[in-house]
Amino acid sequence: MQGSWKKLYIAAAFILTLALIAGCGAGSSGTPEEPTQQAAGGTNGQDQAQPEEQAQPEAGGEVNIYTARHYDVDAELYSQFTEATGITVNVIEGKAPELIEKLKREGASTPADLFITVDGGILNTAKVEGLLQPIESEVIDAQVGEGLMDTDKEWIGLSTRARVIVYAKDRVDPAELSTYEALAEDNWQGKVLVRSSTNLYNQSLLASLIAIDGEEAAEQWAAGIAANLAREPEGGDRDQAKAVVAGAGDVAIMNTYYVGQMSVSDDPEEVKVAEQVGVFFPNQDTTGTHINISGAGLIKHSKNKDNAVKLIEFLTAPAAQETISLANYEYPVNAEAKLPELLASWGEFKHQELDFAVYGENNPKAVEIANKVGWK
Ligand code: FE
Repeated sequence: MQGSWKKLYIAAAFILTLALIAGCGAGSSGTPEEPTQQAAGGTNGQDQAQPEEQAQPEAGGEVNIYTARHYDVDAELYSQFTEATGITVNVIEGKAPELIEKLKREGASTPADLFITVDGGILNTAKVEGLLQPIESEVIDAQVGEGLMDTDKEWIGLSTRARVIVYAKDRVDPAELSTYEALAEDNWQGKVLVRSSTNLYNQSLLASLIAIDGEEAAEQWAAGIAANLAREPEGGDRDQAKAVVAGAGDVAIMNTYYVGQMSVSDDPEEVKVAEQVGVFFPNQDTTGTHINISGAGLIKHSKNKDNAVKLIEFLTAPAAQETISLANYEYPVNAEAKLPELLASWGEFKHQELDFAVYGENNPKAVEIANKVGWK
């Protein structure tokens, strides 16, 4: 076992070193692709990993991640994994489409073992591009909930997030709220806040409604939302909640975890915003609340496949799942994981039952519809 690890390590280290050299040669593009090493005790820092450091292998070898998730908690978990297994975790951060291009370019010579990103559509794109391979692990099968992994197990969910309706507690009676579809009706004119349709969260929501309600109804919905906007879309999800509290509109479509994160923010204004908005899970009597997923795909040409699978097993175990949920307020994919108090207080909810691949498949249509109806 040790011997094969060593061989794997040497091969991977050689390829990674080559990649680093090649990367440095082309590296003045300013993209956030500097590799950062997340060995034990490491932080989510910007330290550039030196090839010399990688010539000193840990007993357990290594695993190389290309990730579009930029959360401190991820780095913390990689450190814990290294401590527990001796496997060094090397991370290259970037935007998901750039990382996919990088993987395509590198082909069989890629040093990457795992691709980690947010959004089921993007994970599906990596699969469709032929960049991934099935992940075989009974541990993962037992730990991850049904429907929260790729149908061919080429990627595995690490967390989910719900896109909900957030409302001004002092002005809106939650009994007035029901579905996403209802927010497009005339009585919400000038009261709806949502970020730009250029954002993937909204594109995936619209993609899900195309799948559920059909293209024509989804277009009518998008047109209704665009007509009901309280203001031209600006800012991110947090800014929509802030605008609700400031009185710019009454309801906002946004992801739950931002409310959780604001509730423990260092900024007292954000804490106040989190206190003054209510969270409503739409479509409970119909098709369920829209959820999206973050996940890890196993790279087809992974040189450290066993280590990569071990890392996914670690990340989907109850302990890591609770850490992710507590730090980010995302929902765990492992039902054994305990929810943070705030999430538990919102209660259980029914969510859409869709193959996440649909978000990718319907994305071009969603973008086309948003443009057509003038949702900026
Ligand atoms: Fe986000």
